[in-house]
Amino acid sequence: MAIRSHQLRCIANDARISPEEIASDFRDPETRELYEVEYPWSESSQAAGAGARNLPNASALRHLWAERRDSTLPIDQSGVWRYRELLPILQDDAHAVTLREGNTPLYDLPRCAKLLGLDFLLAKHQGLNPTGSFKDTGMTAALSVAAERGYQWVACASTGNTSAAMAAYAARAGLRSIVFIPEGKIAWGKLSQSMDYGALTVQLKTDFDGCVKMLAELVRRNPIYLLNSVNPYRLEGQKTPAIEICEQLDWQVPDHVIVPGGNLANGSALGKGFAELKHLGFIHRVPKISVIQAEGANPLFQWFTNAEKMLRPVTADTRATAIRIGNPASWRKAARVIEATGGWCESVSEQEIALAKAQIGAEGIGCEPASAVTLAGAKKLVAAGRIDVGERVVLLLTGHTLKDPEYTIDFHKDLLATGMAEANPYRKPPLVLEAEESAVLRALEAEMARA
Ligand SMILES: *Cc1c(COP(=O)(O)O)cnc(C)c1O
Repeated sequence: MAIRSHQLRCIANDARISPEEIASDFRDPETRELYEVEYPWSESSQAAGAGARNLPNASALRHLWAERRDSTLPIDQSGVWRYRELLPILQDDAHAVTLREGNTPLYDLPRCAKLLGLDFLLAKHQGLNPTGSFKDTGMTAALSVAAERGYQWVACASTGNTSAAMAAYAARAGLRSIVFIPEGKIAWGKLSQSMDYGALTVQLKTDFDGCVKMLAELVRRNPIYLLNSVNPYRLEGQKTPAIEICEQLDWQVPDHVIVPGGNLANGSALGKGFAELKHLGFIHRVPKISVIQAEGANPLFQWFTNAEKMLRPVTADTRATAIRIGNPASWRKAARVIEATGGWCESVSEQEIALAKAQIGAEGIGCEPASAVTLAGAKKLVAAGRIDVGERVVLLLTGHTLKDPEYTIDFHKDLLATGMAEANPYRKPPLVLEAEESAVLRALEAEMARA
């Protein structure tokens, strides 16, 4: 059965293949580069002279998508499949495996905006997805493809959130899943999720990059569908927050979108989403997209500032475990998005991450450490004059604060060892008191007098 709705295009040499032909590692055998999903209406198809004449109609789709908000159908209630006209990757929509992902809020951050001296600062909270991270939006897409193509087993290497998402969606679909995670470098919340959803969980005594290599061998020898973000269908789901953001802003495009960078699929996917919206006439320009990395895992930042031709992998180290990746698979895609949109790549210290996370927490929102690099990076971009006061900036918060409660507790107990000043006003370690009335009253009155 031929799949006609789309093909796959190698980003290095433009070679096109049909989806049935793809290798188990999702890389072009010659260039070793990644593919992206291309539709007959894609700009690249049209540039190659093979495009469809009839583009999807932006104003009709805007109405259709709005109408679906009242629907009781699961795929209409999904904040990914609601936009399925822009990701026609399934033969049959009934094969979509959904947990009603997406539909996440766009919050304003008035106190953080003030800190930065900006008029307008928003947070798109992708941590409020079903398993607590943006990975759900990509997983619903790629796992649905696996299920439709008849796979019984799926697998991924993960710093934690991909495995949680994959395990959940595999369980929904009745598929078996295998997770490779770096031993000791994963937050407990995430590890517990993949076990809860019934994945076969393998802790390898290596880092994320070592897990990726091991997995490549496994999927080469077995009929297992690889669900790492080299899988181009993940990015089709992960591009939908771009649509959601525009919809939530009544189709006013923000000026700047800031995302954390780990394996670099997320920034790539959002870039694809905004570019497609512009190509199809939903919006008239795209936002700048900037990617922020942790200092201890910043190969893209190094590439960006040194203007080298090749990415030099690093040995990654940061407490923001979700972005503890030294050899990012999607670096080329992300680099193109940054350059095409006029964004930047920044790198932030452990101390800057910890402080930014507390500042987002103080807005009553909270996020995991990897998400907080966005605020830390925004501060640097403002200071360097790369964000103007009047710019409408959206931070992508990628994961839920409860993913890594240990980090938060260590911050407040001053155990992060980031050299943060004692006087850091965001630190609120718990008071440990005798259950004795006068002692409790005295302590609380002293605290209230200080506030
Ligand atoms: C996966 C993840 C990231 C990094 O996304 P990439 O696509 O790998 O760059 C950032 N934050 C959180 C919470 C994540 O789970």
